[in-house]
Amino acid sequence: MYTMDYFSTRGAEERVSSAAAILQGLASDGGLYVPAAFPQITLSEIAAFAPLSYEERAVRILRLYLTDYTEEELQGCVSRAYGHTFDDVRRAPVRAVGALEVLELWHGPTSAFKDMALQLLPQLMSTARKKMGEQDTILILVATSGDTGKAALEGFADAEGIRIMVFYPDGGVSPMQRLQMVTQEGANVSVCAVRGNFDDAQRGVKEIFGDAAMAKELAALHTKLSSANSINWGRLVPQIVYYFSAYADLLAEGKIAAGDAVNFTVPTGNFGNILAGYYAKRMGLPVGKLICASNANNVLTDFLQTGIYDRKRDFYQTISPSMDILISSNLERLLYHLTENAGQVDAWMRSLTEEGRYDASSLLPALKENFWAAFADDTATEAEIRTVHERTQYTLDTHTAVAYRAAEGYRSETGDTRPMIVLSTASPYKFGASVLHAFGETADGMDEFAQMERLQERSGMVIPTRLAALRGAKILHEDSCAKDAMRAAVLTFARA
Ligand SMILES: *Cc1c(COP(=O)(O)O)cnc(C)c1O
Repeated sequence: MYTMDYFSTRGAEERVSSAAAILQGLASDGGLYVPAAFPQITLSEIAAFAPLSYEERAVRILRLYLTDYTEEELQGCVSRAYGHTFDDVRRAPVRAVGALEVLELWHGPTSAFKDMALQLLPQLMSTARKKMGEQDTILILVATSGDTGKAALEGFADAEGIRIMVFYPDGGVSPMQRLQMVTQEGANVSVCAVRGNFDDAQRGVKEIFGDAAMAKELAALHTKLSSANSINWGRLVPQIVYYFSAYADLLAEGKIAAGDAVNFTVPTGNFGNILAGYYAKRMGLPVGKLICASNANNVLTDFLQTGIYDRKRDFYQTISPSMDILISSNLERLLYHLTENAGQVDAWMRSLTEEGRYDASSLLPALKENFWAAFADDTATEAEIRTVHERTQYTLDTHTAVAYRAAEGYRSETGDTRPMIVLSTASPYKFGASVLHAFGETADGMDEFAQMERLQERSGMVIPTRLAALRGAKILHEDSCAKDAMRAAVLTFARA
């Protein structure tokens, strides 16, 4: 067996193990950790996935990258992550919707795709902490505008040797998102409303990470900070699994033969989900095109069509808020893999910080070989939810609708009729008011639970039990703090 090392996208000489990369999160030069090679997997190995469970498939992919974890460690991590918390035994089922296949990534505890990674990351981190002989407690800090906070809390609750504190903007998340967070159980969790907006919360967390005096105070409390955001390698690697799993499911159903190429369409924000598909392709999964779907914040559509990344543009708040992003941090990993030139990546990232743009048009042929891109604004997204429901009786959430439309656009513009798998990233119940609005109804005056019931009548889909159970759940976190008091709140939690 080989050893897989990791190094930074900005300075290729510093090599670390996968456990170190996961524990540390970001490389010391500000770059992202990437594996030294793409491990290869043969068609017959992929075909052998067909009768396996999701957990078994996961171990076969993870062990190719996490070579310093034992097979038993990986099995333990995977079964704790996906075993009892998902409401579908297939974990990430594929289902035919019209002429396309939909890969449902929202059967985890918070009904959104973030669970696929955030259920496993804490397990990988706890194990890494033990393997590295780390004695200190790891304190995870998260600033959230909604979904990530709950998924992180749910994943890290009761993780060994780790504590987590989540800051959300007071009044700046949906009532359902707030309820999901403030009812979170677990002896190692803390949730705090910041009297400010999301930028204030995020800035506060970033300042704490860069605060040397704070690090010293925490060291005296035997505590080290870490982060769970989507640039951590431990969040990317779990996402590679479901690309293989979806392919194996289509094989098992006889919809494709081993070796047939399939296309994937991915509703994209930070470029983490779709990048995992690129990894799968580089490992040998027969993938034709990866279609990058954006909402009105279409910085990635422009980039994949021109090679020029330009964040200097209007920012829109859309009905697919988890894709409202102008800086897609995981793109840095793709730039590295396409150039294998850390100096070049460093120059582009500096240009992005200093000028708000960079020109990577030299990469255009490679980008176009692997990707295709399209976007949909809110009007088009609502129309898509409505027409897909009329045609198929299937209800898409707002993010998945952006993708479904891009997938159809790709097919009609290119004539490529290879099987198309659309990644579905949220249950429609997570964005119930917007989905009801797409159906021509107003949710005004209805509380979150009334909306869910009305959506159930319209969609015929079962309300996820974990969302329904929030009605009457005990509020456990009522703390709030001023935006300049986050540092003190972290110290109070660290001392408790
Ligand atoms: C996070 C998220 C996305 C975007 O995924 P990226 O990995 O950031 O590209 C899309 N849809 C939903 C529902 C999400 O929560």
